[in-house]
Amino acid sequence: MSQWPAQSPAAMNDFYGNPDANHDGRADPAWMKANLVRVKPPYRMKWSWAGDVTTITVHRRCAESLLRALDAVARHFGSQQAIERARMHLCGGAFNFRLMRGGSNLSVHSWGAAIDLDPERNGLGRRYAESLGMMPMAVVEIFAREGWEWGGRWSRPDAMHFQAAASGAAPPRRAPVRASAKGAREALLDQVFSQRSPS
Ligand SMILES: [Zn+2]
Repeated sequence: MSQWPAQSPAAMNDFYGNPDANHDGRADPAWMKANLVRVKPPYRMKWSWAGDVTTITVHRRCAESLLRALDAVARHFGSQQAIERARMHLCGGAFNFRLMRGGSNLSVHSWGAAIDLDPERNGLGRRYAESLGMMPMAVVEIFAREGWEWGGRWSRPDAMHFQAAASGAAPPRRAPVRASAKGAREALLDQVFSQRSPS
C-alpha cells in the first residue's frame, strides 16, 4: 500500500486539502499559504525552460519525501557532472495549478504532489525506452522507494512525471520491457514466420 492517496479528486482533497474550494478555477491563496512549501534542491537544478532553480514549490505533506528522493538521486550519480549527464538537473516544475493535459480533471501538480524531470527527452505520449536517453531506471526506482508513481508506464506515457499519488493505472513494480527481451521476442517471431515456408 502506498502512503499516498489515490488519484481521485476526493481522495486528493482529503489528503492534501482542496486547492480550489471556491471553484473559481484557480488555486486559493489560503490553501496555498497553508499547504505549499518551498524546498531547496539538494543539487544544482535548472528549470527546463530557463534559469536556475532556487526553490521547488511542493505540498508540505510530500516535501520531505521529495527531498529524500532527490538526495538519493544525487548520491546515486555521485557528482553534479554525472547528474547533468543523466539530465536529472532539468526540472520541469512541481506545483502548478492546471488541468491534466487533454483532460478535464486537475493534474496532480495542482496539489503540489508531482514533479517533472527532463521534460525535453521524456515528452508526454513518448513511448519509454531507457536506451533513448529517457528517464534513468535508477531514478524511477529511487522514487518508487518513496512510494511515488512514475508516469512512464501509463497507457499515455508521461516519463518526466513522478507523483505522490496512486493513479491505479500502472502495476507498481513491473519491470519495463528491455531492449534485449524485445529483441528475443522479435527473434522468436521471425523464427515462427520463417517456419511457414512459402509453398
Ligand atoms: Zn508532471
